[in-house]
Amino acid sequence: MSQTTEQIYQSDIGDILENSLIGKRPSPEECLRLLKSDDVYLMGLVAGHLTKKQFGKKASFVNNIILNYTNVCITDCKFCAFYRSPGADDSYTLTLDQIEARVKSAWEMFKIRQVLIQGGHNPNLKIEYYEDAFKLIREKFPQVGVHALSTSEIDMIARVEKSSTREILSRLKDAGLQSIPGAGAEILVDSVKDVISPKKISSDDWIRIMDEAHSIGIPGSATMMYGHVENKQDIVDHFFKITKLQEKTNGFMAFIPWNFEPNNTLMQKEGIVEHGAGGIQLLKMIAISRLVFDGLISHIQSSWLTNGVGMAQLALQYGADDFGGTLIGEEVVSCTGARSTELTGKLIIDAIHQIGYKVEERDNFYKPVSVL
Ligand code: SF4
Repeated sequence: MSQTTEQIYQSDIGDILENSLIGKRPSPEECLRLLKSDDVYLMGLVAGHLTKKQFGKKASFVNNIILNYTNVCITDCKFCAFYRSPGADDSYTLTLDQIEARVKSAWEMFKIRQVLIQGGHNPNLKIEYYEDAFKLIREKFPQVGVHALSTSEIDMIARVEKSSTREILSRLKDAGLQSIPGAGAEILVDSVKDVISPKKISSDDWIRIMDEAHSIGIPGSATMMYGHVENKQDIVDHFFKITKLQEKTNGFMAFIPWNFEPNNTLMQKEGIVEHGAGGIQLLKMIAISRLVFDGLISHIQSSWLTNGVGMAQLALQYGADDFGGTLIGEEVVSCTGARSTELTGKLIIDAIHQIGYKVEERDNFYKPVSVL
C-alpha cells in the first residue's frame, strides 16, 4: 500500500482521498474537485477500499422482473425512447390479469423477490388500478416485494385524482407499495430538467415526494442520470440535495448513477447529445458516489444493463457493491421464459464469481436471501 499512499499523497485530490480513508466525506467544493480530476484510478482505489471494508469480497443482486404497465405518456421527455402518446397504434396498458400472469410465471419459474413496476404518465389510469395491482401481488405472492412508481408517476396519479401526493402515497402503501425507485430524478437542477424533461416535476417536487414517502415508512433508492446537458456543478448540486434529504430521513437504501443512452431519443435527433458518456466516466461516477455517500447511503449500484457485465465487474472494484436486478422485461419472461431469465441470473452470478467475490441474492429491502 506504500506506493499507493505515495500516489495519493502526490495527487491534487490526495487531501480529499486521505480524509475519505478516515471517514470524512467530501464537501461540495471537494466533490467538484473530484469531478474535475483525472485521477479516476486513485478515486476507485479508495472507494473500492471503503466498499470492501463494509461488505468484504461480496456483491449482491436481486432476482426481479420489470413490469412496464403502460407506455402511454403525456410527458414527452427528450431522453425517452419508450413512451407513446395516448391513442398511438402501438400504445398499451396491461390488464390486472396480464399483471397477475406475468408475476405468477416469474415467481413459479424463478422465485423472483421483487417486481419493479414503472410506466408512463398515463392520464387514463385511476388510483384503483395501482391499488388493485399492488394488493393482488402482495396477497398472491407475499415473498415478492413491490418496488414501484417514480415520484413523477405518484405526482401524475395525484393530478388525476385531484388529491395530494401524501394521500396517494398513503393509499398506495396500504395497498402494498413497499419501496419506490429513484427514477425521475435525472439531475436535480431545474435548468437541466427544463431542457431534457420540461413537463416533468421540478427538483423540489422530486425531493418533497421522496421526503413524504420516507416519512410514512416507504424507503426507496435515488438515481442520477448523467452524460447529457448537465455540467459538473449540477452533479455536485444533485449529490448534495440527495445528501441533505438522507440526513433528514435515512430513507434511501441505494444510490444508482447511470449514464444517459442517446440512441433513438429526441435529444440525439436534435443533436443535443451525440454519444454516451462511456466507461471511464461510469467508474468515476461510481467512485465519487461511494466517497460522497460513505456511511450515509449503504448501497451503490452498478448498471450492468447499460454498460455491460465487464464494466459492472470493474464498477464493483470502484465502489459499487450491488449489481441491481435481473430486470427481465415482462415480454421476455412471457415469450422466451426460463432460458433468458436463467441466463441473466447466471450471467450475474458468474460475473461476480469471476472476480473472486461471493454472491448474495437479496430481497427488495437488501436483506440476504442466500449466499452463493
Ligand atoms: S415520463 Fe417516463 S415514460 Fe414518460 S416520457 Fe418521461 S421518461 Fe418516458
